[in-house]
Amino acid sequence: MDVHSRDYRARARQIIEETPEVREAVNAATQTFVDNRQKAFADLDGTALSRWAERVKSHALSHLADYLEEAEARLVERGAHVHWAETASDVHQIFECIVREQGVKKAVKAKSMLSEEIGLNPFLESCGVEVFETDLGEYIIQLLGEPPSHIVGPSIHKSLDDTRVIFHERLGTPRDASPERLAEAARDLLRDAFLTADLGISGGNFLVAETGSIALIENEGNIRLSTSVPRIHIALVGIEKVLPKWADLPTFLQVTAKSATGQPVGCFVSMIQGPGGSPGDEPDGPEELHVVLVDNGRSRLLADPEAWEALRCVRCGACLNICPVYRQTGGHAYGYVYSGPIGGILGPGLVGLEETLPLPFASSACGACADVCPVRIPIPDLLHVWRQRAVERGLTSDVERSVLGLLTSTATRPRLFGWAEKAAGLLPAPVLRHLPMLREWSAGREPPRLEGPTFRELWDEGIE
Ligand code: SF4
Repeated sequence: MDVHSRDYRARARQIIEETPEVREAVNAATQTFVDNRQKAFADLDGTALSRWAERVKSHALSHLADYLEEAEARLVERGAHVHWAETASDVHQIFECIVREQGVKKAVKAKSMLSEEIGLNPFLESCGVEVFETDLGEYIIQLLGEPPSHIVGPSIHKSLDDTRVIFHERLGTPRDASPERLAEAARDLLRDAFLTADLGISGGNFLVAETGSIALIENEGNIRLSTSVPRIHIALVGIEKVLPKWADLPTFLQVTAKSATGQPVGCFVSMIQGPGGSPGDEPDGPEELHVVLVDNGRSRLLADPEAWEALRCVRCGACLNICPVYRQTGGHAYGYVYSGPIGGILGPGLVGLEETLPLPFASSACGACADVCPVRIPIPDLLHVWRQRAVERGLTSDVERSVLGLLTSTATRPRLFGWAEKAAGLLPAPVLRHLPMLREWSAGREPPRLEGPTFRELWDEGIE
């Protein structure tokens, strides 16, 4: 996916002003996720679980090369082809070879944020492959020609009526079709695609080094079909997805599902370990299995001593759901595949700070994201790291630097600060609205009016 983060402010404003229904749909869906998550953890010691998950992921990342080689050895023993891809174009080349050699014309695909990150669908289409997204939410946005708006719920920005319209236009369902009728129409079309596709594509939630197992969580059964029906399967796995032991997996599956949607565990958990008929216990599955281990900036981020912790992310989306900034616009404003708080710390690390500014600033730094993160990523601290780097590299605007410089010199002189506070309280609201930096802040708020003595005056008077 191309990165368009530089337009974040304009895009966010446009969504808020012109499409209030997006804000409404995103708020409703994320609130449901937040409530369900809260219930799911109500009777559990969430802190102990997240401390454990943090330790396991940090350990895996600090021994990444060893665990990846262990996973590769297990997969190869069972007959899988393992490929290493440093960049998105390396992934494209691997796909191109397989597709050309095998004469692939049709592919069914499970939801994979990594595939969005590397722009897989447009590439495959340029190779003459017809790609069907098989997750219902992904299928809806594929019909609309849009990228996902959320890590877990790609089409949460769309209402039922939006879906009715697009299905009516593209699949001929009635204009007032029920949700069941819409699902049935998608199911009919996708069943045929599953049975006729040459290639299945999936991501991977976790890769267990000890057993070489790729674990996939889902609710619709489409991953199970994508991974087992077509004769060739390709699993795209980010190198940070590794877990050391098989015994680590059950808790991660639960913690991820509970954090994402509040479910005890996903409705289906599939394991990919080798092609069908391979040595061991693999009686069924595709004739040929390829696993592509993708770096695409992850090694560079891992080597960054101040920012590497973002790689612990299990893509549950809990930080998006709770974020008061994300909830105003949904994911499209961010112009990057990963939106919300995690986008603000993964984007600069994977793609570069210049390309993804101002995403680290698209947060109120309230800390709610860190509270819900199941792997204890200190998201506000990492946002601060990238903000500080933006300032040090002179990437913030001149106006912002001047205003903050003025604020610093005023705030560090108590007497001057007192006068400024008093003067600001006397300024009429229309004037405040035109001051640099206050202009955007006051666009959706009433500037506070000072009445009576200030806190500083009360303090000086010694009133308790
Ligand atoms: S940063 Fe934490 S809360 Fe956000 S998606 Fe990743 S794991 Fe989930």
